[in-house]
Amino acid sequence: MDVHELDIQQAHELLLSRKISSEELTGAYLARIQQVDPQIKSYVTVSEELAIKQAREADQRLKRGEGVTPLTGIPYSAKDSLSTRGVRTTCSSKILENYTPFYDCTAIQKLNSAGSVLLGKTNMDEFGMGSSTENSGFFTTRNPWDFDHVPGGSSGGSAAAVAAGLGLFSLGEDTGGSVRMPASFCGVTGLKTSYGRVSRYGLIPLVSSFDTIGPMARSVRDAALVLEAIAGHDLKDSTSRVEPVQQYSEALKKTENLRGLRIGIPKEYFVEGLDPEVDSSLRTAIKQMESLGAEIVEVSLPHTQYAIPVYYLILFAEASSNLAKYDGVRFGLSERNVDSVLDLYLKTREAGFGAETKRRIMLGTFALSAGYYDAYYLKAQKVRTLIRQDFQKAFETCDALITPVAPTTAFRIGEKITNPLDMYLSDVHVVAINLAGIPALSVPCGMSNGLPIGMQIMGPHLSEETLLRIGHMYQSQTDWHTKHPPVWGDSP
Ligand code: GLN
Repeated sequence: MDVHELDIQQAHELLLSRKISSEELTGAYLARIQQVDPQIKSYVTVSEELAIKQAREADQRLKRGEGVTPLTGIPYSAKDSLSTRGVRTTCSSKILENYTPFYDCTAIQKLNSAGSVLLGKTNMDEFGMGSSTENSGFFTTRNPWDFDHVPGGSSGGSAAAVAAGLGLFSLGEDTGGSVRMPASFCGVTGLKTSYGRVSRYGLIPLVSSFDTIGPMARSVRDAALVLEAIAGHDLKDSTSRVEPVQQYSEALKKTENLRGLRIGIPKEYFVEGLDPEVDSSLRTAIKQMESLGAEIVEVSLPHTQYAIPVYYLILFAEASSNLAKYDGVRFGLSERNVDSVLDLYLKTREAGFGAETKRRIMLGTFALSAGYYDAYYLKAQKVRTLIRQDFQKAFETCDALITPVAPTTAFRIGEKITNPLDMYLSDVHVVAINLAGIPALSVPCGMSNGLPIGMQIMGPHLSEETLLRIGHMYQSQTDWHTKHPPVWGDSP
């Protein structure tokens, strides 16, 4: 058996019994990345030296038997918007192409304390803006299932890396679907955490009021182990939640069925434009939930139709303000051939940002300008409250809701990139969740023409345990999450 076939639990057991060392495991992954990744391009940076160092430290820890956790010695990747000390962190933007942070974001730092091994940083849409990874300032990542298709975005590199067996798990970031949509397109498990469950300290922000960090893994069980390690209150992020982190992986072991749970199916999410194969896979999955004991009811989220305009308006506004700091002085790129401070600012931003980023900065600046603020930004915030209330109301009678993650399977590279509106519309099932700040899990639930289909399971704020239990029960009865793309079989 190739080591990339192991899941976290299996790898952990082999490490514990010293049948394999972390250095061997890490070496095998690095070799596999070298061999397989040139076709997929999921990594922007491979941190080989650091990985070997961390693997050796993990082996010491395992040998001494001190401070060993389920993630000790486990190799993983992280989206390139998570700050990593001494490892280039680009947000896949030319403006940060040569930026190396001098500190780790809290989530990475927690994985360091757990003894995990960082293999490298994964490709994304520039600053997280996109649904296909085509907006990366460097290159487009390919869907491991079919290289002519996108991996989804913006955490497309992370999803592709997990799907192709180029790391045991990855950390993604979800502002408006960026963990769930690529997870769905690449056939892996992805969790968008509740706003505040994982510290945002050191995550390069896109929209500070939406951004969340979450695990992308091969199974719900693996995702639960990662969440346990990265969640929790952090003095460095005042929006992080103080509620204690639950023992998610223990809760999964105790779950035998879904009896007593009521799952709502929001009718607004099953409408025109939904691919018939996605629709039928979801309906089959919902029946399976029922046979596991869940009670299924129809619910309504009446303001769903406003989610896309509200999300994008707030995103443009907050992103334009968050991106103002890239001025050619403090971080990354600085154009040299300039004759004034203004010239420096203009030329750096002209050369450093891609087309989509510029479009969003302009629209956001417009929406925030005097006279338009009330008409657009303020109004969007009011409708955001209505959308949040829709969910609150649904959760008065339901423990969780189930919907598709995306209206279709992965689209073709180039299919939507020339039409931004078309691209935005592919987010129709995911963005309302970020407006509400609630958690949502994406699990594979079918295939269509050789491409994976994803199911979204969402719940009230801080209900991660319930979502993981539902997802885990589903995965214990189905095998969609165990299917692998053809490149899986390539071994060095
Ligand atoms: N498709 C979303 C956007 O373009 C993704 C944002 C995100 O989650 N980072 O805004």
